[in-house]
Amino acid sequence: MNRLTDKDLKSLGIYIHIPFCKSKCGYCSFVSGKHPQNIIDRYLLAIKSEINDFLISLPFKPDIKTVYIGGGTPSSVKPDSLRNFVNSVMLFLPDPPLEFTIEANPQDINDAFIEMVKISGINRISIGIQSFNDNVLKMLGRRHDSKTAVFAFNELRNAGFSNLSIDLMHGIPGFNTDRWSDDLKQAIELAPDHISLYALSIEKGTPFYESGISSHLDDDQTAEEYSLAVSTLKKAGYLRYEISNFAIPGKECRHNLNYWRLGDYIGFGPSAGSYLDGEYFERIHDIEEYIARCESGIKTVGTSEKFDKNNQYVNAVIMGMRLEEGINLSELENRFGISRADQIKSLWRDYIDGCYIIQDDDNLKFGENGFYVSNSFLSMLV
Ligand code: SF4
Repeated sequence: MNRLTDKDLKSLGIYIHIPFCKSKCGYCSFVSGKHPQNIIDRYLLAIKSEINDFLISLPFKPDIKTVYIGGGTPSSVKPDSLRNFVNSVMLFLPDPPLEFTIEANPQDINDAFIEMVKISGINRISIGIQSFNDNVLKMLGRRHDSKTAVFAFNELRNAGFSNLSIDLMHGIPGFNTDRWSDDLKQAIELAPDHISLYALSIEKGTPFYESGISSHLDDDQTAEEYSLAVSTLKKAGYLRYEISNFAIPGKECRHNLNYWRLGDYIGFGPSAGSYLDGEYFERIHDIEEYIARCESGIKTVGTSEKFDKNNQYVNAVIMGMRLEEGINLSELENRFGISRADQIKSLWRDYIDGCYIIQDDDNLKFGENGFYVSNSFLSMLV
């Protein structure tokens, strides 16, 4: 192979899925679960070699600005094992990434974890707090309580981390909007740099689905709580840069921005998705089969779909309209060689006239109430 030059540089985000958790939350539909230590050890070795093999095989020079270790619960892995794993990943990369995130459960944030994160070059921690209300946490099946969450957050802050994100969950049956308002207040007091909101959704096959809780989900309550979050967080200085993500300006999640801008990314681990050169692929879900395949050098891709330019364009519109910055139709035309600007403006005319979408020449973005009707106008494109 010829030597690669800077002209061959290609920007790529890396996602690494750690599918282990110490217990299963009632609403969880992720590929995750409790596994014995020998599986965890084999998994970390297997995925490490898969990442290395992939990076070595690239026909271009990867410009890796972001790495995101998610799950599952990455922090549930023993700090020593995690440190060895992260160190190896760092050695595979051409340069240290600008943003290196790890997800953590408050219960796992102790001195050993903090030390591991500090020396391994991770500079962003996303903490799965979900709520500051112990009854909500118990109902969701989380293994931490509110006191632990606040303590863990403060420990990280005191250790010098300046890019901390928290997850909060709303739309929870049995709890009214007052508790949500309290959660928002406590979140603001903690002053995280970034807040991700999740509306509780219940998928088939989860314990919540089996228990019939789905019938108590209330769309009106979910919308009311979302709207309360938008106004409260904006007032507190947070920028809503994506439908469900808020940040102190400058602390937006670069890794996820790349997804929404339809950049290239590669995911490793069971169920991880990747988008590369207009092709989306997802890896197989079964953890043990995944390990076995990596150990035997067999590909772990389960399904894939190649998009033509027109579909890539539509994907970019759909993803980009999640962002507060919206989309620029001329830029999309240059990028994909597809001209649909006039067609889109005329398709969305009623929404533009109704201020659900704000149009400024070739820029389109959501108006204040546009987020609530996005499904209807985005589905017109497909
Ligand atoms: S911590 Fe996350 S991945 Fe693990 S069971 Fe709970 S929701 Fe699922």
